[in-house]
Order: sequence, then C-alpha cells, then structure tokens
Amino acid sequence: MGRRHFLAGLGLAATADLMTSMATANASPRQPTDRAADPDADAADPSGCDRTVVYGCLLHFLDDPGDPPAEQAWELFEDGALVIENGKVVWLGPVQRLSDQHTADAKVIDHRGQLVLPGFVDTHAHYSQVDVIASYGEQLPQWLDKYVYPAESRFDQPRHAELMASFFLDRMLAAGTTTASVFPTVHANSVDAFFAEAERRNLRVLCGKVLMDREPHAPSHLRDLSVAQAREQTLDLIARWHGRGRLGYSITPRFAPTSTEQLLQMVGQLRQERPDLWLQTHAAENRAEVDLVRTMFNARSYIDVYDRFGLLGPRSVFAHCVHIDDQDRTRLAATHSSIAHCPTSNLFLGSGLFQLAEARGARVQVGLGTDIGGGTSYSLLQTLNEAYKVQALQGKRLSAARGFYLATLGGARTLQLDQQIGNFQPGKEADFVVLDWAATPVLARRTEVATSFQERLFALMTLGDERAVAATYVMGKRHHSAPARS
Ligand SMILES: [Zn+2]
Repeated sequence: MGRRHFLAGLGLAATADLMTSMATANASPRQPTDRAADPDADAADPSGCDRTVVYGCLLHFLDDPGDPPAEQAWELFEDGALVIENGKVVWLGPVQRLSDQHTADAKVIDHRGQLVLPGFVDTHAHYSQVDVIASYGEQLPQWLDKYVYPAESRFDQPRHAELMASFFLDRMLAAGTTTASVFPTVHANSVDAFFAEAERRNLRVLCGKVLMDREPHAPSHLRDLSVAQAREQTLDLIARWHGRGRLGYSITPRFAPTSTEQLLQMVGQLRQERPDLWLQTHAAENRAEVDLVRTMFNARSYIDVYDRFGLLGPRSVFAHCVHIDDQDRTRLAATHSSIAHCPTSNLFLGSGLFQLAEARGARVQVGLGTDIGGGTSYSLLQTLNEAYKVQALQGKRLSAARGFYLATLGGARTLQLDQQIGNFQPGKEADFVVLDWAATPVLARRTEVATSFQERLFALMTLGDERAVAATYVMGKRHHSAPARS
C-alpha cells in the first residue's frame, strides 16, 4: 500500500539518523510565530480552505517500542511537516519533501522549535471527582465513603454536572489530552452533561452511566433502584449518544463490591448483545478490596469474578489491576482486555505498585490513566513521571520512548480507538499536542545539557506538566493555548 510504503521507506530510514543528529541539538529557541503571537490562529480562513500545514518537530509511534526501545517503533522528523485536510492527517514527513500540492492554499501553523505529538489519551478518569482531588489521609474504601460519594451525590443537579464536565474537559485539554475514558456518576443526567460538553469541543471520548446497586458498599442515595431500571436507563443513553459524532458509550459498572450478581449478569449480557460498546470498571486496586471481593463472590481472584459474568473481552478496560497474578494476566490477554495503569492514584491512595513489565510479558495491552480524583494530576506527563517511579521502586525502568508510546498510541490501543487516533498515520484524526522544551527554567536548563533526543524526552516526561503544553489541537483546530509568558 502506498501509505505503508511511505512510512516504511521514508520515516524509518530518517529516524535513526535524526536521533543521532539531534544528539547535540540545543534546547529549541521559541519561535516568533508561536502561540503568543497568533492567539487567533484558528479564526475562519476567508478563502474557505480546509487544508493546514503544521511545522514542528514531529514524533509519533507506529508500535510499542518495548524494552529496551526499538527505534523502528517510532518516526521522528525534527524539521517536519504535518498536512491536515478536513481534520484528518493526509501527509507527514520532512519539510524538504513537502510538495506544492500540500501547501497550495493551506493555512500555516508554525510550531518550529517545539515538539508536536499525537494528543494524549487518558484511559481512566472521573469527571465527577473534580472536587475530590487532593483529599487527605485515606485508602480506597474509606476514601470513597468520606470524599467521593458525597461529591458524586451533587450530580443529580444538571447545572452542577455541566459545570464540572466543562471544567474537567478544559483542564484535560490544557494538559494536552484529547481523548479520555471517563466515569460520570450513577445519575443519567451526568452522562448527558459530559457528552454534551465533549461534543461542544468535538472530542473523541468514552463515557457511560455508573452502575451500582449493592448494599452496603453503594450508598442508598447513589444506588440503582433495580437492575431492570439500570438497564433501561443505559439503553436510553446508548440510543442518544453512542456513535454520535466522536462519542462512544462505555458500560460502566463501578466495581465488584457495589455490584450484585444480577447487575453483573445484566452487564455481561448487554456486552454480548452489543459488541460495539465499550466497558470500563475498576479491578484489584487495593489489597483489602481484593480480599473483600474474593469473599463476596467466593472467587479465586478479582479478575475471575468479572470473567464469570462475561465482562472480559475487546473494548473492556480495567483500571488499576495492581494486585493480579499470572493467571489473571493470561486471561486478560487471551480475551483482548486492557488495563488502565494509574500511577499517581496508586501512589496517592497507597494502593500498590503496578507490574508493567509483567503485563507486557503476558501481552496485555496497557494505557495510562490519570484517575482524577484519586490521581493527583490531569497531566499525562506527570502521570509518566510517577509511572517511572513506580517501576523504579520495583527495580525496573520505563524509557521515555515507551512512556510516550503509552501516552499516545498505547492509550488509543487500550481503548481500541487506534483506527481513529493515537498517531499521525494518514487517515487518522488530527488531534495533537504541542510541547515546549523550554517551558520552565528547570526544563530549559536540563534540555540544553541533554546529549540525546531520548534524554530530552525523558526530561520532558519527568519535569513537564501543563506548563509544557504550548497548544492543543482537536481535529486540526486549536482548542487550547498556553497563556503568553513574558
Ligand atoms: Zn477510578
């Protein structure tokens, strides 16, 4: 195929050379044409042209680079161009190869000197927990009772849900994240609010009404009144939102302790009836929780409970999976189920250390999750910073190459959205983030003394956060710009 040929022939050959040639590159100076200079870059073009050329240092992944990272897994164009038409990528490569055909009547977005990456993918977060972030002193079970459930009880008010959805999505875009799989609350209107706000921003997101019906772990005021009604509400929301624009519905049982067997049966059945839907839930986050679930369901393992009810499979995303074993991993891989790894949350709530290498060894697809508000940052750069430390505490490593793969294509694969997003292959939707190597004095200094591109990338994933995000684009349109720095 022409595209494949292009990628294989042009990109990969260039990659190794560029990695080497960039080894001594200085920290990139800010360009006069960047964000501060053109805040209205996306104003309507009077010519009506829908073609855009983005200049910058382009990096994207074609596959999991593994450990140690294999350079064939990514393409890097230091002086690169990305051509977008009607919101989709049509070409990428070195500027020298850009043809007149690509540039004719095209709007130009100049991010030279900055790093242009596919938009980050957050595979697990709760927009209902915006106000819960940074709540002190508890582990999972008590943290839910003390902080989360009181916060979620306010989402029966449509206006509150709308404000929170808006706040969450704007923070997400400010962090460079363009796709997320998100939990709302048990209230149907909380799904409406989230999808409506995501649609207004033209974002590719997954969401679905939280299902919870079991005493005493689901509090009475946040409980589905019956399985039949929970199913009916879910079907109604699916009919309204699933497949509308860029929105996808994810069946969302909160987790095993808040689920009756009847509820899990209903979920398993719905999953079977509708393989086009996603499924998201939590699994094996906290040791006490795991013991509780094994007792409640008389099961060998937490994953076995979900397996028993048919919840495993493609498009099923299980957040955390900190306390699982080889048998669980084998089963997750065999069913093409995925894991959302949420390091800031696992550390903050003292849940445990995720075994990333073991998941890869078992060929389980893994993505990164912020797990707002158990997690402590909206930024996937900060999530990577903590993911590295989680591995370091286990005597292991997470390379920058693998880290940025996890934050982009790895996340898209986790959500089975890699046909649409995750890298810059022609035909993909042009969601991207622009990162500034010199966003802070510390980052600028560290970047300047770095002796390789990978070293610079590692500094960015360790020291970067929202401040490093110069701009975020959705389907080729700018949706966020960092405030101008003096
Ligand atoms: Zn969560």
